[in-house]
Amino acid sequence: MKLAQFYHDHRLQIGQIKEDRIFPIRFDGDLVAFIQKRPSLNISDTPLALTEIQWLPPIHNPSKIIAIGLNYLDHVQESKGALPESPLVFAKFPNALVGHQAKIVWDEIVTQKVDFEAELAVIIGKKATCISEDQALEHVFGYTCANDVSARDLQFGDKQWVRGKSLDTFCPLGPWIATTDELQDPQNLKIQCRVNGQVMQESSTNMMIFSVARLVHFLSRHFTLLPGDIILTGTPHGVGAFRKPAVYLKTGDKVEVEIERIGCLSNVCGSR
Ligand code: MG
Repeated sequence: MKLAQFYHDHRLQIGQIKEDRIFPIRFDGDLVAFIQKRPSLNISDTPLALTEIQWLPPIHNPSKIIAIGLNYLDHVQESKGALPESPLVFAKFPNALVGHQAKIVWDEIVTQKVDFEAELAVIIGKKATCISEDQALEHVFGYTCANDVSARDLQFGDKQWVRGKSLDTFCPLGPWIATTDELQDPQNLKIQCRVNGQVMQESSTNMMIFSVARLVHFLSRHFTLLPGDIILTGTPHGVGAFRKPAVYLKTGDKVEVEIERIGCLSNVCGSR
């Protein structure tokens, strides 16, 4: 099923998407609390049109957002980097999270090189410490689309990536989570990024160097993963910084991340 968080009637709600409607779920809490408790579904029989709601990121308060750099063969080739021997791990802060249709904003005094990165995001469903690769996917709740928006001048200038990756609004997520009951295999999904309708990134999750199962196994040996934690699994080739000439986002640009069998996450860039 597809589960979302949204704002309606002056409060945060969770709901199940069915085609072009969302059915609010009667539950006292957010989606992380829902993932922790796993109550039986109590669905309202009064759906809302998707056009009526304000989307929130499906997870807004994770204990961790872990991101992986250089995890697609085609992206390693364009960045002229060496093939990583183990996953390259960095973090994004939760203040970066925004939902579908929210604005991506930045201050031009802080950065002038804002780039897009289409990524498959993994949402953890069960506490995971030292999990084997075989058991890893049992600890996944579902998958969603992410945009690992990156201030390249800060990222490459600092050497350490966290500032350039964690500006407010630099982690659009959503629109919803496709749960593992309908999406069992995350390793053969088309992934695309479009800017103003033009295809900038196009690849498949089968190009990942470290699979989702391998990443969950690897990360769980270092950090206990908790329900609602988010793993951004890396971006394919075609990012703006490595194009000739380079392409950076500007006010008014519409950025879409679409992943097969999940959905399409759309955000517009705006001034702060
Ligand atoms: Mg990335």
